[in-house]
Amino acid sequence: MSEYKSTGIIRKEDLEIPSDERLEEGPVVIMECVENIPCDPCVAACSFDAVEMEEITDTPDVEYETCTGCGFCVTECPGLAIFVVDCSYSDENCKITIPYEYIPVPDEGDEVKALDREGNEVQKAVVTNVRQSGKTYAVTIEVDKENVWKVRGFEVEK
Ligand code: SF4
Ligand code: SF4
Repeated sequence: MSEYKSTGIIRKEDLEIPSDERLEEGPVVIMECVENIPCDPCVAACSFDAVEMEEITDTPDVEYETCTGCGFCVTECPGLAIFVVDCSYSDENCKITIPYEYIPVPDEGDEVKALDREGNEVQKAVVTNVRQSGKTYAVTIEVDKENVWKVRGFEVEK
């Protein structure tokens, strides 16, 4: 049994992730969707046809070479399970786009507490972009490259 089934905490090892080469090419989606639930908005959200699913209870199958990393799917996932990472522009940093439905909403340039999947602080991070779609925001923060697989949330300090 996968560890997350007892802990509720997904690990990098539980995910299908892009190759190191694809990660270096530019922003790319990371779908942390591991349960066979009846759900598929991520398929319709992608106008590049990068996401496929044969049955509605399948987990999404992402074609990473087709994904542009646009991030439009991030705000369409009811499970807040979709992220975009971009490690292509720097040797030291990566950007992570995170779905967010709390208040207060951060502003671009704010410093926030970057959190791991258990809610523990990993580091301070700067908000580089905020986009809203309906009640969901897609907030991009910049983290140290070594933390790109740890950070999956943030806390606003206002
Ligand atoms: S990030 Fe953009 S291109 Fe990639 S799967 Fe999501 S909607 Fe499609
Ligand atoms: S929309 Fe989100 S929860 Fe639903 S299948 Fe896609 S990634 Fe999973």
